[in-house]
Amino acid sequence: MTPMLRRAVARAKCSKCERPAVAEIRYARLRLCREHFNEFMEKKVERVLRRVGVLQKGRIVVAAVSGGKDSSTMLAILSKLSKKYGFRVIGVHIVLGIREYSEKSLEKIQQLCRELRVECLVIDLERVIGFTVPELARRAKRPTCSVCGLVKRYILNAVGVELGADYVALGHNTDDIIAYSIKSFINHDITQLAKFGPSTETIKGVAIGRLRPLFEVYERESLLYALVNKLPIVIDECPFRPRSPMEDKIKEFMNSLEDDHPGIKLAFVRRLEKRLGFYKSLAESQKYGRCKYCGLLSAGDVCSFCRVTEKAAGKPLGPLVRSEIRRLVASIRERSKAP
Ligand SMILES: [Zn+2]
Ligand SMILES: [Zn+2]
Repeated sequence: MTPMLRRAVARAKCSKCERPAVAEIRYARLRLCREHFNEFMEKKVERVLRRVGVLQKGRIVVAAVSGGKDSSTMLAILSKLSKKYGFRVIGVHIVLGIREYSEKSLEKIQQLCRELRVECLVIDLERVIGFTVPELARRAKRPTCSVCGLVKRYILNAVGVELGADYVALGHNTDDIIAYSIKSFINHDITQLAKFGPSTETIKGVAIGRLRPLFEVYERESLLYALVNKLPIVIDECPFRPRSPMEDKIKEFMNSLEDDHPGIKLAFVRRLEKRLGFYKSLAESQKYGRCKYCGLLSAGDVCSFCRVTEKAAGKPLGPLVRSEIRRLVASIRERSKAP
């Protein structure tokens, strides 16, 4: 929002009450005060979770938290809804070892989880396997961002499996999902596109389904939620982030479309969700098995985490990571039993 627009909104009144508005939601023709904006956002997430079937007692959701605005907004809303519906939320933060960026992120996460009173599992990669992400990438001769993504996916899945979770929740917002989908169209990768719905399926004991609670939450709404609720968040970006990723260009373009056609982004993801069955029917059938070292999901004999760590350290480190996660999970089970 431009400063001028922010001042104009600040003077305006909420469409639902007498309080001053903090948000203008053009596609819904609403101006909302903090309380009504929070309610609006929580309803959006609640609707997605209802469609996926999470709003039930006993469900377990592992929430991946990075310290950024999206995952923090996601955790705050999940934690509120979990109290209302009786499902359980456990935060997971992975310390990647990317200098001050990682230190700052951890600090914010610990503060956030304390404030929300959400149990948070912190997994320090260097402490577990002896390497940070940049070190692992250098040794495996692979790009840092691709190794980072692989490490995060592996650890989150391993935590989910150990906890017997129903879902691993990711902080992807509407703008992210559109950018990933358009990128899949550009690459004509329908198999990939079919995975960008609000959730993906679980393969029991091997792979936990992904959940995207912010499926219908715009990036600016997610930022605004974090700001008006004063959530502790890291503003800095990862120093390894590419300077001009394709996703940013797509987001810019979609935002300019949204200016002329308010609601077009929301319509995009809703239509995407409706067409998922069709895209899935076009997707190439992928054969999955278990990694021969660690037992988790793998396209071949050896999963990509075991392959990369084998190259970097001389032996596959999946089993080590899994036993460390088992230990951490047992310790939070003990704590939750304690009075
Ligand atoms: Zn209001
Ligand atoms: Zn493995």
